[in-house]
Amino acid sequence: MDPEKFEALKADIFDFFWRELDPAVPEIEKTGRIAPEVWFPKFREHGLWGLLIPEEYGGSGLTMTQYIPILVEMSKVHGGVRVLIHVHNSMSKGIVRGGRDEQKKELLPKIATGEISVAFGLTEAKSGTGRDIKTTAVRQGDHYVINGEKHLITNTDFADYIAVYCYTDKNAGSRGISGILVHRDTPGFTLEPHKALLGCRGSSHGILTFKDCLVPADMVIGREGDGLEHALSMLETSRVFIAASSLGTAERALEVALDFSKKRVTFGKAIAEREGVRQYLADMTIDVYALRCMLDDACRKIDQGRPIPVEASACKTFGAEAVCRVTETALQTVGGIGYTAAHPIEMLHRDARLNLLEEGTLTIQRMVIARAMLAGYELT
Ligand SMILES: Cc1cc2nc3c(=O)[nH]c(=O)nc-3n(C[C@H](O)[C@H](O)[C@H](O)COP(=O)(O)OP(=O)(O)OC[C@H]3O[C@@H](n4cnc5c(N)ncnc54)[C@H](O)[C@@H]3O)c2cc1C
Repeated sequence: MDPEKFEALKADIFDFFWRELDPAVPEIEKTGRIAPEVWFPKFREHGLWGLLIPEEYGGSGLTMTQYIPILVEMSKVHGGVRVLIHVHNSMSKGIVRGGRDEQKKELLPKIATGEISVAFGLTEAKSGTGRDIKTTAVRQGDHYVINGEKHLITNTDFADYIAVYCYTDKNAGSRGISGILVHRDTPGFTLEPHKALLGCRGSSHGILTFKDCLVPADMVIGREGDGLEHALSMLETSRVFIAASSLGTAERALEVALDFSKKRVTFGKAIAEREGVRQYLADMTIDVYALRCMLDDACRKIDQGRPIPVEASACKTFGAEAVCRVTETALQTVGGIGYTAAHPIEMLHRDARLNLLEEGTLTIQRMVIARAMLAGYELT
C-alpha cells in the first residue's frame, strides 16, 4: 500500500484498538465471546478483514512489513481478537497465493469486507499433521465425497467455508493432498464447539465431522494435488505472524512491568531501584529487541518474494519461547496481584501460551530448521 495511505490506515486502526477495543476487553474475557453483531461491523469499518488482500480485490494489499506492526499492536490489546483476525487474514493470503483466478474474483472481494470468512482445517485428533492426515475426498463425477474429522479449527462459529486439507489420492504422496472449500451448510458436515480455552478468550474453535459430505469438484483450492504445498506455504508465512503476536504480547508485558516497577514501593523504595528487579527488566528488554530484529529480517525477505522456511520457524520458536519468558518474568515483577484477573499481566500470561502451539509445536519447528540446514539452506 502507498506509504502515506498506510500511515493513515495504521493510525486509524491503532486508535480503534485502544479507544474502543481495549475498554471492552474485560467484558470479552468475562463472557468468553467476541460478539459478532458488535465487533464484526467495526472490524469492517477499520479494514481489518482485508489487510492482506490486494487492492484490486477490495483489500488494502499490505506488505508484510506493513501488516506485522498491526498484528503486534492487536496482540498487545487482546489475544482472542488477534487469533480471530489472524486466521481470517492468513487464509485470505492463502487464497491470494493458491486460488484459481475465478476463485479469487468470486471470494476475495467478499472476504475483504468480512461478508464471508474461510477457516483453515488441517489438524486432526487421530493423526499428525501434513502428510499424516486421514481425511479423504473421493472423486465421484463432478463432486468429491469427503469423510473424516478435523479438530481445533479456529473461527468455525462464523466461517462460511472451511478449507479442508485431505487426501484426494493416497498413492500420490505429497501430491495426493488437496485443499477443498466446504461450505458450512453442506449436508454431511457437522460442527461442534470445543470447550473454553486457557487464553485468547472469545475466539472459537470447532470439531468438524465429514460423513459422505458431497462437495462440488471446483471447490478445490488451485488444482487437485496442490494441497500440501499450499498448506505448508501458508503455514510458513503464518509462523511469522505468530512471532508478531508473541512480540505484541511481550511488548505489552514489558510495558506493564516497567510501569509497575516504578510505582510499587517496598521498604521505602520503588522496586525499580532494586538490582534484582532491574535484571528482570533488562532480560525482558533483550528478548523483545531480539524478536523485533528477527521479525524485521523475516518480513523484508518475504516482501522480496523469498521463501524463508528456516527464518519463519526460527521466528516462531524464538518468539514463543521469548513471550513465555517475558510474561513469566513480568508476572514475577508484579508479584501476587499479577496472579489475579485484576491485573493485565494475568491475561497476557495465559494468552502467550497459545503461541507455543499455533502453526506447529516447537519440536516441529526445530525439525523444519534442522532438515533445511542439513539440506544446505543458506541463511543470508
Ligand atoms: C487455540 C488453537 C487454535 C488452533 N487453530 C487451528 C486451525 O485453525 N487450524 C488447524 O488446522 N489447526 C489449528 N490448531 C491446531 C494446532 O496447530 C495444533 O494443536 C498444533 O500444531 C499441535 O498439533 P497437535 O495438537 O496435533 O499435537 P501433536 O502433534 O499430537 O503433538 C503432541 C506432542 O507430541 C510432539 N510431536 C508430535 N509429532 C511429533 C514428531 N513427529 N516428532 C517429535 N515430536 C512430535 C509435539 O511436539 C507435542 O509436544 C489450533 C490449536 C489451538 C490450541
